[in-house]
Order: sequence, then C-alpha cells, then structure tokens
Amino acid sequence: MDLRSYIRDIPDFPKEGIVFFDITPLLGDGKAFGEAIDNLYEKFKDTGATKVLAAEARGFIFGAPLAYKMGIGFVPVRKPGKLPYKTVNVTYDLEYGSDTLCMHQDAVAEGEKVLVIDDLLATGGTAAGMLKLVQEVKGEIVGLGFLVQLGFLDGKDKLDEQGYTCLLTL
Ligand code: 5GP
Repeated sequence: MDLRSYIRDIPDFPKEGIVFFDITPLLGDGKAFGEAIDNLYEKFKDTGATKVLAAEARGFIFGAPLAYKMGIGFVPVRKPGKLPYKTVNVTYDLEYGSDTLCMHQDAVAEGEKVLVIDDLLATGGTAAGMLKLVQEVKGEIVGLGFLVQLGFLDGKDKLDEQGYTCLLTL
C-alpha cells in the first residue's frame, strides 16, 4: 500500500510559503492507518520498550495504538499547564521563539526502556525535546520513530547520532 498517497500537501498552511503535510486522509482510511501502525510495530516490536512516549496532539494518534499493540504503557507529553501532577519540563528553540514540553516526573522510571513516536519529523526540535525529557528522568531511549520525515529539513542531522526510523521520506 502506498501510504504517501494518503498524505495531502497543503500549500501556504499555517502561513504563506509553508507546505503542510496533512495526515488526516491516512487517519480516515482504516487500512492505511492500520498499516502505518502495523509497520511501526514491526520496526519496534523487539526493542524491549516498556513505554511509548509521544507529544500532543498528532503524536498521540500514532503513539497510543502502537503502545496498545505492543502491550506496553503510554506516556503523554503535553504543553505547559495541561498535566495535573508534578512535571519535568524542557524548553526548545523554534524558528521564531521557543516552545515547552512537559511530562509527569514519574511517567518513566530510571533505566526504563522508552520508544519515542511522532507523526512527522521536520526541524527535529520536538523530537529533541522529547529525548531530553526522557534523559532528564534517566530513562533509556530504545527507539525513535516517525510516520514521515521531511528530507529537505535538518531534523535528520539533529537525530543522526541517536538514530531513528521513519516510514516515509518527503
Ligand atoms: P519539528 O519539531 O520537527 O520541527 O516539527 C515536528 C512537529 O510539528 C511534529 O510534532 C508534527 O506534528 C508537527 N508538524 C510540523 N510540520 C508538520 C506537517 O507538515 N504536517 C504534520 N502533520 N505535522 C507537522
């Protein structure tokens, strides 16, 4: 199945000059969505991970079913002010400004094996932020996976040392 054909290119979104890769056609097709989750499962099923960690909002869509299929826990990473318990936080640079991601401080135990998942790798800022959160609580990253990577941006360089897997390169 050609998963690329289920990703729609939207020019000038969210602002002029940016092409946004819309994954909702893939989500809307049971077979394509299922195949994306199954493919991620095949890549990561032998990592020994006991948690899947993903950031709101689109990361949840892939991370949660993957965790279910692997039979392991799910850790939500959220924007500030959303998580009710004590959090660890990381602030990272964006093209203009910065962003903060938060995780419950007890969501990952020291030495626990963690799989980090997101829908799309662009500049790598979000992924690097999630990796930092796991490192902060001394978890062990055993995999990093994306549905899509944008090959024309530098996210891959940021993550090369860590190593990662993606199903599609655009
Ligand atoms: P990065 O932090 O690597 O620059 O951006 C990746 C994050 O932004 C991901 O969490 C992803 O959900 C979101 N994102 C950025 N650009 C796109 C895009 O074109 N399509 C989708 N679906 N998500 C995007």
